[in-house]
Amino acid sequence: MQTVTARTTISPWIQDLPKVELHLHLEGSMSVATVAALSERHHVDPSGVWPNGLPERFSFDGFPDFANQFFYGLSLLRTGADIATITEDLAATLATHNVRTPR
Ligand SMILES: [Zn+2]
Repeated sequence: MQTVTARTTISPWIQDLPKVELHLHLEGSMSVATVAALSERHHVDPSGVWPNGLPERFSFDGFPDFANQFFYGLSLLRTGADIATITEDLAATLATHNVRTPR
């Protein structure tokens, strides 16, 4: 199977371009740091999904592996505060990619 990992290097020209996010899934956009924070908040051990600890970046090996990680993330969304946390995390991430709202 092919392992899918996010590209880490973006040219400055592309980085600086203003962008718009056309479609994303909030619950699928959690950063590793946010998954770690929510795991701690809810006293959930992620080692069942990541036996060697949370990775530096999420990647997966096929759909079952993706689904296992995705559903772990979903299990951490329990309160309005959790939704606020992932929304703030996503907004911060999008800002680093120069994603803007329409004017
Ligand atoms: Zn979609």
